[in-house]
Amino acid sequence: MLISEFDPWKSKLCTCPKKYSFSPYTGCSHACIYCYITSYIPNAFHARLKKDLIKRLKKELHKVDTYISMSNSSDPYTPEEKKFQMTRKCLKLFKEYGIKVLIITKSDMVVRDVDLIENMRATVSITITTLDKEKAKKIEKFAPPPSKRIDALKTLNEHGILNSVRIDPIIPSINDEEIEEIVYAVSPYVKHIISSTLKPRQDSFKRLREVMDIDKYKWIKYGNSFYLPKNIRFSFLERIEKVCKKNNLTFSACREGYPFKAESCDGSHLINLK
Ligand code: SF4
Repeated sequence: MLISEFDPWKSKLCTCPKKYSFSPYTGCSHACIYCYITSYIPNAFHARLKKDLIKRLKKELHKVDTYISMSNSSDPYTPEEKKFQMTRKCLKLFKEYGIKVLIITKSDMVVRDVDLIENMRATVSITITTLDKEKAKKIEKFAPPPSKRIDALKTLNEHGILNSVRIDPIIPSINDEEIEEIVYAVSPYVKHIISSTLKPRQDSFKRLREVMDIDKYKWIKYGNSFYLPKNIRFSFLERIEKVCKKNNLTFSACREGYPFKAESCDGSHLINLK
C-alpha cells in the first residue's frame, strides 16, 4: 500500500485533520540526527525508489478524499530525487487528478517543481531548525543549508504559493536560543509557523549524544517517544507564538498538547486559501 490514512501511532496529542500519507521513496538520505524513521525503516538513511510506483499510485488515488501529505517518513526531495525525478512525476499525477497536496521538505530542490506547484492545489512547508550552516551540517548532515531553504521560500512566495515553516524539532542547547530569529528570517515569505520540540525514540538517543548532553534532561515516555517536561516544551512554544503574533503569522504546535488558534496544525489550511 502506497497511500495510507495518516495515523501517527494513534497519538492522543495528534491534532491533524484527516489526511493521507505518501512517500515516493523508502528511507531518506538527509540523515538528520534526530530522525525517528530509523526506528521502523531498515537502512533508513539510504533512500531508494519504490517499485512500479506510478502504476501502483494510479490505482490508489481514489482513496484520497482530503489531501496527501508528502512526506512523513522521507523527504520528497531527498538527494536521489535530482536523478530520479519521482516526486515530480507524482506531482504531475496529482495535478492531473486534482488532488490536494501538502509538501513537506528540507530541500530547495522543491523550486524545480514550481511550474507544477503554482498550478495545483498545494502548499509547501519547509523545515528550518537553525540559521547556522555549521550547526545544520551537524544535525541534518546531507540536507541543503538553511540559506538555500530560505531562498526557496522566497521563490515559492514570488510564485504566489502559500507556505509555512516548520521549526521542528526545537532541541534544547542546540537551537532553542535562535527560535525567534528563525521566525523573523522567514516571516516575509510565509503565512504560518508550525513548531514541535524534540521527541527522541530509544534509538535516537545514541546519535543525539554525539551533539548534546541529552542525559541532563528529564525525559518522559509518551507512546513510542520521549518528551521533555511540559514546562520546558511550553516555554519554547510560547516564545514562538509570541513572535508569530508580532509578525502577523498564524501558529500551531505539532503533537504537544499546546493550545493554538490556527485552522490546522500542519499548515494544510493554506491549500484552501489559494
Ligand atoms: S529530512 Fe525528515 S525524513 Fe529525512 S532524515 Fe531528516 S527528519 Fe528524517
